[in-house]
Amino acid sequence: MGGASGAGASFRVGRAQVFSFDVGDLELRLDEVFDPKADLSTYFGEKDLSSPEAFPTRSFYVSSGSRRVVVDPSDYARLVSPGHFRAPRGSAPPPTLEEQLAAAGAAPSSVTHVVVTHLHYDHYAGLTKGKAGAPELAFPSARCIVPAKDWSTPEMVGARERRDADVAETLGAVEGAGKLELSDGPLDLGDGVTVEPFPGESPGHQVVCLKSGGDSCYFVGDLYHLVEEVEHPELAASWADGPALLASRRAFAERAAAEGALVLPGHLPAGRIELKGGAPSWAEEKA
Ligand SMILES: [Zn+2]
Repeated sequence: MGGASGAGASFRVGRAQVFSFDVGDLELRLDEVFDPKADLSTYFGEKDLSSPEAFPTRSFYVSSGSRRVVVDPSDYARLVSPGHFRAPRGSAPPPTLEEQLAAAGAAPSSVTHVVVTHLHYDHYAGLTKGKAGAPELAFPSARCIVPAKDWSTPEMVGARERRDADVAETLGAVEGAGKLELSDGPLDLGDGVTVEPFPGESPGHQVVCLKSGGDSCYFVGDLYHLVEEVEHPELAASWADGPALLASRRAFAERAAAEGALVLPGHLPAGRIELKGGAPSWAEEKA
């Protein structure tokens, strides 16, 4: 099915090639993700939800026909800069996405599309590179597709109006270059690559679907952060729209299981979803 190397984990999907790049671990506590007042013992037993855990963060690259697509470009240095996410103690910064793409033989200038599954910083911090105040597009020729409903949340509108650096130097630079495209519904990028809304984690959260030669693969962003969320689809982060997320997860699990699809979440290793008596379960895929 593929292999792991300095160039990330690779998977063949029909005639297409997919790479998953580990761009670095973030440190989070489960009581920061889920409402700490809720009874979470059904999901986590007696586990201490206040102890820090490492959450790997991933970016992806797809080569299908004439399409070269980056999904959720991240940038570890920006994510763990002061005032942002925490880095686990002692963790070494991984090679940058640019370096990992180069090791995989992918040239940033040949990328045709960048899709951001949702507008949380860990999924778009790598849209640009360069020094603070002087951002350069990381993928200069690419159309950058972001969810319209995330672009127009009050938080995002506020950040855009006050020229918040995280937004201005990434999404703002892409918009200024005329490369930003807002998606609000299914979108066909060609050569078997489509984008579809699966809301809940954010109002416009979207998933990238790749079909080639009878195989299918889904880049699902933060539809799931943890295996427990696959197996208990009602388990929702405190910032999510619970009912919308549950509907998205049910629809997605049914489709992914029926297709035997490879599923690539933003913070989990690759896997496949099986439905046993209607209950979803997760099987990790060996790269
Ligand atoms: Zn995320």
